[in-house]
Amino acid sequence: MGSVVCMKPVTGEPAAKVVKSEQEWREQLSPQEYHVLREAGTERPFTGEYTDTETVGVYRCRACNAELFRSDAKFHSHCGWPSFFTPLAGDAVIERVDNTLGMRRVEVVCANCHSHLGHVFEGEGYDTPTDQRYCINSVSLTLEPAEKAEK
Ligand SMILES: [Zn+2]
Repeated sequence: MGSVVCMKPVTGEPAAKVVKSEQEWREQLSPQEYHVLREAGTERPFTGEYTDTETVGVYRCRACNAELFRSDAKFHSHCGWPSFFTPLAGDAVIERVDNTLGMRRVEVVCANCHSHLGHVFEGEGYDTPTDQRYCINSVSLTLEPAEKAEK
C-alpha cells in the first residue's frame, strides 16, 4: 500500500512547482522568513526592508526566486508594508479567499511554491490604475535591482 497523502480541498489552483518538506524550508530560510512564508505570518508594520524602497528592479519570491512584482507597480500606501497595485503577471501569484476572523480577506501566495506573501485589498481609494493594494511582507521578497536583471 502506498502512503496516504492528505490533500487540501483546493479548487482551481495550480499545483506548486517547487515543493519542499518543512525541514528543507527551515534549512533554507531564516526563522522570520519561515514564519512569514510558510506559516502565513506577518512582519511588523514599518519594519520591513522594502517598505519605502524606490529602487528600480524586480521583486522575487524569497523562497523560490520566482519573479512576482516589479518596482514600477510599487506605490507608497503608508500602510507599513511594501504595496503593489498589480503583480508582474496574472499567474505569478495565487489569491485565496480567507473568511476566518469574521472578515473577508484575500491571501496572496506565490504561484510557484505556494509560500505566503501577504494580502490583497481593493476599493480603498488609492490613486493607482487598479485600485488594488497587494500588501506584501518585505521578508517574502528579494529585490533584484535593474542593472543586474539586464545582464
Ligand atoms: Zn515562491
